[in-house]
Amino acid sequence: MRVAVPRETAPGERRVALVPETVSKLRAAGFEIKVERGAGAAAGFPDDAYAEAGAELVDASSLAEGAEAVVRVAAPAAEDVAGLEPGTVLIGFLSPLTDAPGVARLKERGAIGFAMESIPRITRAQSMDALSSQATVAGYKAVVLAADRVPKLFPMLMTAAGTIAPVRALVIGAGVAGLQAIATARRLGAVVSAFDVRPAVKEQVESLGVAFLDLGVRAEETEGGYATELTPEQQAQQQAALEKRIPDFDVVVTTAAIPGRPAPKLIPASAVARMRPGSVIVDVAAETGGNCELTVPGEVVEHGGVTIVGTTNLPSLMAFHASQLYSRNVAALLQHLAPEGELVLDWDDEITAGACVTREGST
Ligand code: NAD
Repeated sequence: MRVAVPRETAPGERRVALVPETVSKLRAAGFEIKVERGAGAAAGFPDDAYAEAGAELVDASSLAEGAEAVVRVAAPAAEDVAGLEPGTVLIGFLSPLTDAPGVARLKERGAIGFAMESIPRITRAQSMDALSSQATVAGYKAVVLAADRVPKLFPMLMTAAGTIAPVRALVIGAGVAGLQAIATARRLGAVVSAFDVRPAVKEQVESLGVAFLDLGVRAEETEGGYATELTPEQQAQQQAALEKRIPDFDVVVTTAAIPGRPAPKLIPASAVARMRPGSVIVDVAAETGGNCELTVPGEVVEHGGVTIVGTTNLPSLMAFHASQLYSRNVAALLQHLAPEGELVLDWDDEITAGACVTREGST
């Protein structure tokens, strides 16, 4: 199977879909890989490393020629879609629940789109779960950004000048990103509390030695393990309860999300007003509108001495490891679609059918 790896063109995107390590493994499994010159540069993977791994380096103009699959991180721009041969497999984060025009473009072009977001979250597909691999990186980076902004040391320190109290951190939304944020904040020495609306989370976080902050709201868990959206009344109750408790924390990392929906608003402006100056909120949900009412996606803002970090695409800021993990997810999917190095699309397979968002005759 011939696979092409373009240089990402989305603004601010530093990741690359395949790293040299994975290129070698795919080569050994019978794949031919073409990589656009400079594709890995922003993530720390130079062209030479790809050449050594057995990739052919080419210019953008000849990349898609003869490719049976194009693998990317972000969804392709319209001009990239226009350059695809009909029938080409296109793999990437295609935002199937929120980018209907992008998906329609792929369908019109006759591309067979596989969205990394749509890989079923079943045990057999864990190695392909890019939502989890990238959320892990985002959760880590969120805490590092908070540590950089907060004017306090995270750990308790006993020094000749006396004792310093540890940072008190709150993680809201304890899915994949939130659990990594909890672990990272703990490693840095913070005293961590966490909250999630899924009933199973209380036990999970308590088993990590983290206090569960009970805000008195519970949501159902869907079959896929996601939370259902709160009713407006429940949301108001959550906001009011959080407003009372939030002044206790120096750092708040929010990761609450409902797939395909705007991020739930958890922290109203009135709650930010109650926080101590110097406190920091890192809003990992900024991309889908943010969990905090005052978050400005893509920006860092300050209100009454409280910093609100709305930086988007956190995995791209850790492009080396984010790409390495993503690349392994993509390679696992490629090997699933082409087990002997030849493309065999089995539409009765749960992973192949589940991840596909455009194919001939359907969407
Ligand atoms: P996500 O990114 O969609 O959401 C993040 C978290 O926000 C979730 O834990 C959700 O419950 C929480 N949330 C939603 N609304 C909230 C609110 N109003 N207040 C507070 N929290 C709120 O979810 P995710 O991190 O992708 O994972 C969701 C679940 O799927 C987790 O249980 C995870 O362990 C599970 N999962 C399973 C597999 C598998 O292979 N079986 C793989 C990955 C994740």
